[in-house]
Amino acid sequence: MKIGIIGAGFGGMAAAYDLRKAGHEVTVFEAAGFVGGLASGFKEPYWDWSVEKFYHHWFASDKHMLGLIEELGLSDGVIFPRPYTVLLYKGKWYPFDSILKALLFPGLGFGLNKIRFGLVGLYLRLTNNWKPFERVTVEEWMRKWAGKKVYEQMWQPLVIGKFGPHYKDVNMAWMWARLKARTTRLGTFQGGFQAFADRFAEILRERGVEIRLGAKVESIKRKQAGLSVRSEVGAESFDQVLVTTSPNLMAKLCPELPESYLKGLLELKSMGAVVMVVSLKHQLSEQGYYWFSLPKGEGFPFLALVEHTNFVSPEHFGGDHILYAGDYLVPGHEYFSLSDDELLERFAPAFKRINPKFALDWVKKVWVFKTNYAQPVPLVNHSKNIPSIETPVEGLYFASMSQVYPWDRGTNFAVEIGRRAARLMIEKTV
Ligand SMILES: Cc1cc2nc3c(=O)[nH]c(=O)nc-3n(C[C@H](O)[C@H](O)[C@H](O)COP(=O)(O)OP(=O)(O)OC[C@H]3O[C@@H](n4cnc5c(N)ncnc54)[C@H](O)[C@@H]3O)c2cc1C
Repeated sequence: MKIGIIGAGFGGMAAAYDLRKAGHEVTVFEAAGFVGGLASGFKEPYWDWSVEKFYHHWFASDKHMLGLIEELGLSDGVIFPRPYTVLLYKGKWYPFDSILKALLFPGLGFGLNKIRFGLVGLYLRLTNNWKPFERVTVEEWMRKWAGKKVYEQMWQPLVIGKFGPHYKDVNMAWMWARLKARTTRLGTFQGGFQAFADRFAEILRERGVEIRLGAKVESIKRKQAGLSVRSEVGAESFDQVLVTTSPNLMAKLCPELPESYLKGLLELKSMGAVVMVVSLKHQLSEQGYYWFSLPKGEGFPFLALVEHTNFVSPEHFGGDHILYAGDYLVPGHEYFSLSDDELLERFAPAFKRINPKFALDWVKKVWVFKTNYAQPVPLVNHSKNIPSIETPVEGLYFASMSQVYPWDRGTNFAVEIGRRAARLMIEKTV
């Protein structure tokens, strides 16, 4: 079979791996000049490692990703350093990356609220049946079971930060999945995610997959036999096609999808993201903190501050200290149209709140990355809204971040859904 895949992110590449292994002829079309998609990275000429455009790490529980890495024989490249995650309480930062640290966190006092926080967390981690959770919102469920104080101190800032105006509508299965699937141990790849993506692409090519970079697909049309994929260089026929873009792009690529499927794609909600990467001459958090969770109510101009070089050593970046400042935003938010300098002007005062010694002349270089599609928003009874991987157009498949529900998006689940799509496609060919 001749198979076309649109997108060389981790979903597309994982699918290409299995489809090729099953003996098919696979061509991957990638609009960008590089592989890795949302998890791709960039590099200054004097850096040994790349930096992800949007901060990325793996969890110790990311079995689909870590399993694939093992199959590829690349497990030696995976590292799990021991970074600090911190939470703000009354102007002070408290480490929050182990059960002991959570117990010592003063934000919930040391009485009933801490017990409720612990019991609710434990219950969610031990429960496997997520279905009932999708019938209620995080707001309703947490207020009822964890209580007002625990919800407002611990969980509300997280849902507000991630989902902005949609936060009251997000279903509890999202929170369940987050607590169930995440660990405090965080990992990465030596050389950065881009190094892994490039090595993966190299292995695919060695095995005979054709990966075309700078090949933006413009349309996919059903022909009498097979599907016609049109890009700038012309049209080409395939027996099956897998699309791994956002639902919006999928709808544009294939307008001949039936009305009900198109409507399903277009009704899915998602948040965008704006992330600034800054290289600094000095370390910002002298305590060595990696991840700062910033409650929106504390007046920070962004949600997450991440000092990458408190996770991996600055020696990989020629001694530069790498900082991320990022936020999830509704598409159209003013941050999407500000210039890099304007955004730095907004963000820099917040760096001083982390380290009063910070001055603008610490900044060596600034990069800003923006995407309209960063975080799907799962509403009540969301499982009914998930588009099927096999579309109603014969031979056309779709696998995106919006379909990994109830799990939250991540490269681990991109690999899982890419491989699930490949299995479905292979089944159709036998
Ligand atoms: C701010 C942020 C932080 C994140 N943090 C983490 C994290 O810590 N850990 C983690 O595991 N995951 C994280 N993720 C999620 C992770 O990046 C995604 O889940 C994963 O990369 C999705 O992979 P994908 O293959 O499904 O899609 P994508 O990576 O989006 O790949 C789709 C590809 O399709 C290409 N494409 C689009 N249109 C066309 C076209 N017309 N023709 C050809 N090609 C096209 C795109 O260029 C892209 O390369 C984060 C994401 C964001 C935005």
